[in-house]
Amino acid sequence: MKALAANFGIDKTLKILGLKDVNEGTSTGLTSFFGNELLESYSPVDGQLIGKVTITNEEAYEKVMDAATQAFKTWRTVPAPQRGDIVRQFGDKLRQKKEALGKLVSYEMGKSYQEGLGEVQEMIDICDFAVGLSRQLHGLTMHSERPGHRMYEQYHPLGVVGIISAFNFPVAVWAWNTSLAWICGDVCVWKPSEKTPLCGVACQNIIAEVLSENNLPEGISNLINGDYTVGEFMTKDPRIPLISATGSTRMGKIVAQEVAARLGKSLLELGGNNAIIVTPDADIKMTVIGAVFGAVGTAGQRCTSTRRLIIHEDIYDKVKKAIVDAYKQLQIGNPLDENNHVGPLIDKDAVKMYQNALKQVVEEGGNILVEGGVLSGEDFESGCYVKPAIAEAKPDFKIVQHETFAPILYLLKYSGGVENAIDIQNSVVQGLSSAIMTNNLREAELFLSVQGSDCGIANVNIGTSGAEIGGAFGGEKETGGGRESGSDAWKVYMRRQTNTINYTTELPLAQGIKFDL
Ligand code: NAD
Repeated sequence: MKALAANFGIDKTLKILGLKDVNEGTSTGLTSFFGNELLESYSPVDGQLIGKVTITNEEAYEKVMDAATQAFKTWRTVPAPQRGDIVRQFGDKLRQKKEALGKLVSYEMGKSYQEGLGEVQEMIDICDFAVGLSRQLHGLTMHSERPGHRMYEQYHPLGVVGIISAFNFPVAVWAWNTSLAWICGDVCVWKPSEKTPLCGVACQNIIAEVLSENNLPEGISNLINGDYTVGEFMTKDPRIPLISATGSTRMGKIVAQEVAARLGKSLLELGGNNAIIVTPDADIKMTVIGAVFGAVGTAGQRCTSTRRLIIHEDIYDKVKKAIVDAYKQLQIGNPLDENNHVGPLIDKDAVKMYQNALKQVVEEGGNILVEGGVLSGEDFESGCYVKPAIAEAKPDFKIVQHETFAPILYLLKYSGGVENAIDIQNSVVQGLSSAIMTNNLREAELFLSVQGSDCGIANVNIGTSGAEIGGAFGGEKETGGGRESGSDAWKVYMRRQTNTINYTTELPLAQGIKFDL
């Protein structure tokens, strides 16, 4: 490893997380780690090779599925509150390893160290949530229409849950799924993004310790590694009743069809194109903080990143100036250095997409307000650092309708009432996160009403970016319709069964039907 990694203690971090140094060969992990082909993981921070993992081949996948299906037979019989206790222990281990895992997230994915820590905190929070939930997997009871009968519903685990995740939340999305799935009695097979495989191995090592300390089967948590072809093992596999897939809409459309073809269930968390509406009654200071963090945080690589700012014409120039001024203060650089606000994009392909989007907005008639560009020089050796850009555009530009996973913010102007801004906000195919900045009660309530935002998340006086684990998370339209994390999202990981018990000596039929023999 070169100086930068050493300076920020990456070697030590890898050791704490049970990952061998790159020079020592492949990383260790559970069940899936045999095979010949290796997947290399390069850091977007400094371009260095961090480590290699073994790509899961078909034979290895079969072994994983054997381990998972066997483990399910044990795990489903463990009482839910005891399963909750295992998740509690997992949360405790995450607390112990928070700094190390947060640093690996930052180094392998490129988000700031603070955001890396925040991601691990989300894992801890969902563990706490799941522990409480493990005593609340309630069904309902109903009154039977037949005398001497009792009727109720209960929830049983589904079996093996397949999790496919994106690079930008390399650890939290897995935990959102897996901690709920585990308390529900499911076992999990996870394919992390091929761009962040070491985060996957680190997480697997942490849960493996907990399972081993409790003499539980390893197959309760399984990891497979590789690109989409490895993901396809799961999407085509009828032994997996639920696929939870997070990533691009392009991926979601393929996965949804594969899983539906075998009548499996899918939980889809796909792309967003999130907007903040800024009305004449907005608090400008709050708007600037929310919009800038939303647009440049994680270098614009959050599913909830702010991509469109829909500003009323009366305050357009004022807001524009405030945002452009704020961008002048942004520090771009190594995300492990807490003085920097913006780190790198994930790889050079992402840089190309960013450049193409900036070119296209100009071709469509847009006006660049804050120039973008790729940074070069000693501090930006990986070639993945770009400048956050702002362009004035029109709502119907093709590029504005498209999710570009990079720090590009489009300023759009509206006139008239807030309903015109809501129309613009809803005019895209994605439906993840949305926000309105206003102190006007009528505008806020209209935005949240049935005539308002069509997104899964609608905020007032908060930006689009980030969410608390207590609410159900997900979006509508091409964002896929899935819900994860809080509220009653747990129900997707279980099957519902209606039970009717006759405690008489008669057999009355439902709907008053007579069947005399
Ligand atoms: P991606 O679609 O390229 O890959 C996501 C995952 O899907 C990877 O693990 C990949 O290997 C796998 N995959 C791709 N094609 C597949 C196929 N045909 N079959 C099975 N698996 C397949 O996405 P990405 O670039 O890693 O992530 C960025 C995207 O994810 C953005 O669009 C972002 O908005 C979205 N995202 C959404 C949410 C959400 O909660 N809505 C959260 C994070 C990221």
